[in-house]
Amino acid sequence: MQEFTEALPGGCLCGQVRYSLRGPALFVSQCCCKDCQKATGTGHTTIVGVHRSQLQITAGTPKTFQSRGESGGDVVRHFCGNCGGRLYTSGTLPGELIMIQAGSLDDPARVHPESVVYAKDALPWDRFDPALPRFEKLPDRGAT
Ligand SMILES: [Zn+2]
Ligand SMILES: [Zn+2]
Repeated sequence: MQEFTEALPGGCLCGQVRYSLRGPALFVSQCCCKDCQKATGTGHTTIVGVHRSQLQITAGTPKTFQSRGESGGDVVRHFCGNCGGRLYTSGTLPGELIMIQAGSLDDPARVHPESVVYAKDALPWDRFDPALPRFEKLPDRGAT
């Protein structure tokens, strides 16, 4: 669990949607799943798992796109309707979890990836810290 004492600010590329995130981060993972690849246009996305109550939207209203996750649950991706910047994911996740896109934080270096999830979908050209534990899908806690 990664504690940060002050709230971390974040938002989208154009600045219309802004948020404030309170700690602790329950987990920080590199997610290689195919949906994250499509949704971000990258090899993987870095997600920060928090309880829904830890995120406060301070400006704007994110747009949403809902799809069906590999686990069968609904996955709702929240993003800026103006610039398309990805913000966080919610859905039928246990414990009111949401997953912040680490790159949307104003200072993404404040969080540190602890694992690689959906490693079965990792691309041959994507590289991760070899010290990180890798999970074919998920450990016992949700991600998409
Ligand atoms: Zn924006
Ligand atoms: Zn994913």
